[in-house]
Amino acid sequence: MNLPEMFGENVFNDSVQKDTLPSDVYKALRATIEAGKQLDVSIAGAVASAMKKWAISKGATHYTHWFQPLTGLAAEKHDSFIEPEGDKVIMRLTGKSLIIGESDASSFPSGGSRATHMARGYTAWDPTSPAFVKEGTLYIPTVFVSYTGETLDKKAPLLRSMTALDKQAKRVLKLFGIDCKKVSTTVGPEQEYFLIDEEEYLKRKDLVLTGRTLFGAPVTRGQELEDHYFGTIKPKIGDFMRDLDRELWSYGVLSKTKHNEVAPAQHEMAPVFSTSNVAVDGNMLTMELMKKVAHKHGLACLLHEKPFRGINGSGKHNNWSMSTESGLNLLNPGDCPESNTLFKLVLAAVVKAVDEYQGVLRASVASAGNDHRLGADEAPPAIVSVYLGDQLGAMVDSIVKGESYTSVKVEKGGIGVPESPIFPKDATDRNRTSPFAFTGNKFEFRMLGSQANVSDANICLNTIVADAFSDFADELEGKKDIEKAANAVIARELKKHYRIIFNLDGYGPEWETEAAKRGLLNNKNTADAVPSLYEDKNVEVFVRQGVFTKAEAVARADIRLENYAKIINIEALTMIEMAKRDIIPAVSDFIAVLCQNVASKLAVSEKIPCNAEIKLIDKLSSLNDKASAAVEKLENDLKSVNKRDVQSASQTMAHLIIPDMEEVRALADEMETLTSADYWPYPTYFDLLYSVK
Ligand code: ADP
Ligand code: MG
Repeated sequence: MNLPEMFGENVFNDSVQKDTLPSDVYKALRATIEAGKQLDVSIAGAVASAMKKWAISKGATHYTHWFQPLTGLAAEKHDSFIEPEGDKVIMRLTGKSLIIGESDASSFPSGGSRATHMARGYTAWDPTSPAFVKEGTLYIPTVFVSYTGETLDKKAPLLRSMTALDKQAKRVLKLFGIDCKKVSTTVGPEQEYFLIDEEEYLKRKDLVLTGRTLFGAPVTRGQELEDHYFGTIKPKIGDFMRDLDRELWSYGVLSKTKHNEVAPAQHEMAPVFSTSNVAVDGNMLTMELMKKVAHKHGLACLLHEKPFRGINGSGKHNNWSMSTESGLNLLNPGDCPESNTLFKLVLAAVVKAVDEYQGVLRASVASAGNDHRLGADEAPPAIVSVYLGDQLGAMVDSIVKGESYTSVKVEKGGIGVPESPIFPKDATDRNRTSPFAFTGNKFEFRMLGSQANVSDANICLNTIVADAFSDFADELEGKKDIEKAANAVIARELKKHYRIIFNLDGYGPEWETEAAKRGLLNNKNTADAVPSLYEDKNVEVFVRQGVFTKAEAVARADIRLENYAKIINIEALTMIEMAKRDIIPAVSDFIAVLCQNVASKLAVSEKIPCNAEIKLIDKLSSLNDKASAAVEKLENDLKSVNKRDVQSASQTMAHLIIPDMEEVRALADEMETLTSADYWPYPTYFDLLYSVK
């Protein structure tokens, strides 16, 4: 394989555009993509025709407007290129069909922002993310809006948030004499996932229907030996990874790093970063291809945040920064951050934004699946805080205290082996427990769930930072001595938002106490986290930055809660069915066999000891009775959920249904450890986690 040659072979990318478009059309299109210029619609016909020709040469017969409705998943409806001509057909893609598509919006969630009788929705081409051919179809990335112009997807607000940030960041840069065409936000999403044997997967209703195991006693060997992380990759997994890379590269996704993760059967893929909307599309494709490629290899890819209890779940680290078209990274501290006023101002803006809108950030990553990570038994915690590392931490401390500061020397580290090159120690050490960590020249937002559409978190980040920039620019524009005025703003804001900075271990319970003292939010589940989004202040920031209307902001919060309640409902129903139809009867059958065994022993002689069986019969009978009662309670409580009110429904789910489910699970898991493997109806954690060679 010639990688540079095959990279992006399925993408209508810059070089293909250059080769296939008339030069004026090409220039106009690039001006839209690179400088954010309004799209000149008169070029659509020419682009469509070139795109179609190229797509057909790649074997395409269909095209689709590819969009991301509020389900968070990607949606597509395929149309063929054919158009009748006499008794033949010709292949056609018009400029209009490239730019706009009509789609029945009524079956997608809208949070009430669109009455069903006005079901018309439109998809509109997003030329900033390249089209590609996959499995015989030309995929055209689009945004999805309603008849009345309300956004019905994740893409349109993401693009709006990028525009807002671009506008406000340019104002800040201008203060420092920097003129640029465009400031883009960049994202590198690291994707964690599990791979298990597909046959075993298909035997588990819970995995198939809910993406996670609702039952399962812990396996005797979990991740305690810490030997899986970066461990040798098994041949079958290696084959999968190679195949996945090849697929991703062909679609222009910059897959870079692959390795085993902490938990058994857990892995990670990290791409090279790109512009936010391209990164989001790339991540959607990555998740889809992971599932498809896994299937080809007889594997099932689990993207759920917590497929297995007792071992780590999966997240998605959202590496985020901002840079100009000439490559100036606004989060690059340079060699001497203390005298880099622009950098300090940008840093202060991020710190201010994260502190003021911590509730919004937390809510942007809240989901039923992610609740098993944040605020539960693994990191990062549900409390939003910012980690700056030793060097920047010390710099900020000195600014806040009004003391002078000389940068921490980056030590020349050696390893004591003369043959090995000396390497400088990185001044920003890695803190793995922080939800929002500065890592050299970017922030890494680590609270995202592995199956999340990364748009949500980035819409939020871009918007709140744009708003902080806008405040700073309002205050500083027109000031004579910008350095002095900016440094005063930096000191004031860092002081004001100092509470959000936390450079120590975020896992421990001490942090929860300390965070509460600092007045930081600690919303442990979706039902409690999402209501932040309804607060006036939190709606207004999106309205002010032109990202959401008030109605859109509220609709999105409603959908988040509705989705949460629906997921828990499906999990509860699945659990009830598994318990009633499989687990309780299986245990009962096993008890019956134990009873028969006792009876046959006693028939031979009353003197034969039967303690083992009798103890088990007793224990299992009592557990099975309790399990049956717990299932009944869960069923009844589920009936009490007020489905018409999303806030009430989600509260009931979080505080009544989930504890009920915990009870059912605890009893079933204990029975699993006592029931003969021949009788247990499902593959165990051992079967699921250790069966891939
Ligand atoms: P780590 O320090 O987490 O091991 P890296 O520094 O290699 O990893 O980067 C992790 C991720 O951050 C990669 O996806 C990388 O492309 C991304 N990244 C690096 N620079 C930026 C940036 N300026 N903006 C966004 N993402 C970035
Ligand atoms: Mg990372």
